[in-house]
Amino acid sequence: MRLLAIFAHPDDESLFCAGTLAKYAALGHEVYLICATRGEQGQIRHPAIDASLYPKGKALGQLREKELEAACAILGIRPPIFLDYQDSGYPLEVAQANPAGFIHQDLQQIEDTLLEYLALLEPQVVIGFDPQGYYGHADHIHLHRATLGAFWRAGNVMPEPPKRLFFPLRTKERVAQTKFHPHRYGVSANSVAVRVDVRPLADTIRSAVLAHASQAGPEENFAQVLLDWPGILEEETFVLGGLRGAFPAMPVDDLLAGWA
Ligand SMILES: [Zn+2]
Repeated sequence: MRLLAIFAHPDDESLFCAGTLAKYAALGHEVYLICATRGEQGQIRHPAIDASLYPKGKALGQLREKELEAACAILGIRPPIFLDYQDSGYPLEVAQANPAGFIHQDLQQIEDTLLEYLALLEPQVVIGFDPQGYYGHADHIHLHRATLGAFWRAGNVMPEPPKRLFFPLRTKERVAQTKFHPHRYGVSANSVAVRVDVRPLADTIRSAVLAHASQAGPEENFAQVLLDWPGILEEETFVLGGLRGAFPAMPVDDLLAGWA
């Protein structure tokens, strides 16, 4: 089977569903990752990295490209495919003031590009952003719209379009443990289609997050990520964003459950 994850920035994959990507790669499936940007507007947080050497823009993007390649190797998935868009920045006011950023790029063109990759890679399962972009990043929300469009339009151009589209999301109970608003960024437990127990992969997830060294920082900063988002080393939850064919009674513990 072929799985394709579509995310916006280096580190999204490791923070939102690293355990699941690693799990399916280890089971022998082909796992691909599209990354829309190189995270050129990220924040260097690692005290051992001289931020002046990697100003926002191309230099930081090149550093983060290498970090994502390392994370993919740790997860055992294919090297990342970059779409060469530019990170808009965060929060929203920053993104809105950056005309070169991803959110200002034409949605239809992005969707067309994703559709080309769907036709090329022929994934049966697609993983992408939910309508709230996991925690509201404008690039995530923009990419959600393009991903959703491409998933449905694939039925027009592919003899075997992808069957399942999943959004990694957290339940409102999990989100309530963070600084984010639970009713905006979380879903009710009965919306969850798949719960993946990632505890056996906790070391892999930790290593993949740490591979984004400039962003995640050394141990103490990673500890902060864990404090901010409790549970990321325990379980990854997904809702169904699109479906062709049948799906078992929810929740299941496998993205491929009941595959026919
Ligand atoms: Zn992101």
